[in-house]
Amino acid sequence: MYTDTHCHLNFKAFNKDLKEVIDRAKKSGVEKIIIPGAKLDSSRSAVEIASQYEMCFAAVGIHPHHTTESDTSLLYINVVKPDENSLLNLANKPKVVAIGEIGLDYYTYKNYPPITINGKKRQKELLILQLKIALACQKPVILHCREAHDDMLELLTDFQEKPETRLRGVFHCFGGDKNHLKKVLDLGFLVGFDGNITYEDNQKLQEMVIQTPLERLLLETDAPYLAPVPYRRQRNEPSYLSLIAVFISNLTGNSLKKITGKTQKNAESLFSI
Ligand SMILES: [Zn+2]
Ligand SMILES: [Zn+2]
Repeated sequence: MYTDTHCHLNFKAFNKDLKEVIDRAKKSGVEKIIIPGAKLDSSRSAVEIASQYEMCFAAVGIHPHHTTESDTSLLYINVVKPDENSLLNLANKPKVVAIGEIGLDYYTYKNYPPITINGKKRQKELLILQLKIALACQKPVILHCREAHDDMLELLTDFQEKPETRLRGVFHCFGGDKNHLKKVLDLGFLVGFDGNITYEDNQKLQEMVIQTPLERLLLETDAPYLAPVPYRRQRNEPSYLSLIAVFISNLTGNSLKKITGKTQKNAESLFSI
């Protein structure tokens, strides 16, 4: 049995056939699915799907991509004000098992301008606000980090150094290097890997999988993105999670049973599900 610890069933790619996708996941051995939000709307729909399907759980959070949509005062209102519509309120809804996905993303996306120094500062502000929510409601965090590992690790070190602000969580869709991985593990976080580890041109990432102790590894699809081989460039879905597990089993020389058992235990313990 598997848990897909990062699957955007709340995104419009699944609008038309959500029930079929969930049924296929179940048939393929996926027992539980965690649906992270990317802004308030998608966080709200993650909570809604979790209330409709027993095997689904929600995470709520504002992705760094959406930082620039609001100024800092609006951010405060959206995130921490004890208001019915705020993230803080959503975080306390039933079946919300984490705050996420939240983080830093300095990558320049197609058709978007590069992230400015001010943009980076705002991403950090938003992240810190949400890390504080995670501490306040004692939930783990699902961290998104792209081309921002040094800043992210520095920021998290401040939190991890003090017992009262120590966070639990996962670096989802890990994309850092060897030194980043070591630091992530030293700080006590888990590491999530996705279908992109199966891509032929991704040996660097495969090396990161090998270097991650099984006790710290989580399986995730990040569907609808990053479909594993042989579905690369198609819509990803949670039923493909087993392909990632099989790939890790072959890559690391551990039995599939061991990969499944350990990662399932990791997911259940981190998210208390
Ligand atoms: Zn992400
Ligand atoms: Zn995601």
